[in-house]
Amino acid sequence: MSSSTHPIAAALVDWFERDGHDYPWRRTTDPWYILVSEIMLQQTTISTVITRYEKWMEQYPNPAALAADSEKNALLSWEGLGYYRRVRALQAAACTICEQHHGIFPREEADIRALPGIGDYTVGAILSFAYNQSAPLVDANVSRVLARIYNSSCPIDSTEGRKEQWAQARELLHPSNARAYNSALMELGQRICSIKSPSCLICPIREHCRAESPEKLPVKLPKKAISILEHSDILSLCPQRGILLKKQEAGQRHEGMYRLPNRSEEEVAQLPLIAKQSYSVTRYKVKRSLYAAPQSEPQQGEQYIPLDQLASCPMASPDRKLLEKQLANN
Ligand code: SF4
Repeated sequence: MSSSTHPIAAALVDWFERDGHDYPWRRTTDPWYILVSEIMLQQTTISTVITRYEKWMEQYPNPAALAADSEKNALLSWEGLGYYRRVRALQAAACTICEQHHGIFPREEADIRALPGIGDYTVGAILSFAYNQSAPLVDANVSRVLARIYNSSCPIDSTEGRKEQWAQARELLHPSNARAYNSALMELGQRICSIKSPSCLICPIREHCRAESPEKLPVKLPKKAISILEHSDILSLCPQRGILLKKQEAGQRHEGMYRLPNRSEEEVAQLPLIAKQSYSVTRYKVKRSLYAAPQSEPQQGEQYIPLDQLASCPMASPDRKLLEKQLANN
C-alpha cells in the first residue's frame, strides 16, 4: 500500500480483489469494449446486459465495424435495451474514432471527452478501467455510498451535491489502482450498501464510514411529478400489403425506429378498441389505446411493411410486444 493511499481506498481494493464479481467487461482492458459496456449499463440492469453484451461485441468488435454498419442495423441490435439514443451516440463515437483517430481508440482525456455521447462518468470509466489512470467516477451507486461514507445531507442531485461528490470520489481515489477502486466502489453500492437496507455489519469499510442513519441517505431534491402521456394508435393490417408503420423522424425520441401510427381522438372515435397498454419511461407514464383500422391509407412518413420484413425493422420494445401479441391473435 502506498503511503498516500486513503484507508477507505485500500480496504475497498482489498475487498474487491478478494470478493469482486466477475463480469465479462471486467475481463478486458480494451477501451472500445469498456465504452460499450458502460453505455449499455447506464440505463439497463446488469442481468439484462449480461445476456446481450457478448453477442453485441461479436457483431461490433471494434469502432470500425459499428461505423461501417447502417443505423437501422445498429438500432435493431439494440432492441430490448431501450433508450435508443445511446446506440446512436455509440455509432457517432465509432465514426469519430474512425475519422479522427484512424480507428484507434484515443488515450488522451480531452480526445475521449470530445467523443459524442461521452460525459464525466464515462470518461472516468474509460480512463480507469481501460488505462488504469487515476480518474474518479460517480454513478448512482457510488453517489449513495459517498453520501453515507461522508454522512452528507447535501442533495446528491443538486449542483452543489454533484460537485461535492466528485471531489469526495477524487479524495478517496487509489493512487495506483483506480481500476479496482472504481469497480469496488460501484460494487459496494450494488451488493452491500444497498438503497433500502445497507448491510453495514459485513461492509469492508464500516470502521471508516460516518453514516449515522444510512437508510436515510442519500438526500435528494423533491421529485418531479409523474406525467401521464396518453395516445391513440392504430393497427392497420392488410394481408397483401403488410402492416402500417411510421418511421420516426430526426429529433424524435425513437428516431429511425418504426412505431404504430398515431391518430387523433376524432380519427379513432368510430374504430373498435382492440388493446390497451401502459408502461413507464423516465418520469412519464405512457397509456396507449390501440384501435383496429384495416382500411387506413398511409399518412406522411407511414408505409406498409410486409410481415416477413417486420423482424428487420427496428422497433421500440412496447411496440414490438404489442404488435406480436396482436399478430398472434389474428
Ligand atoms: S458501513 Fe453501511 S452505510 Fe457505510 S458504506 Fe458500508 S454499508 Fe454503506
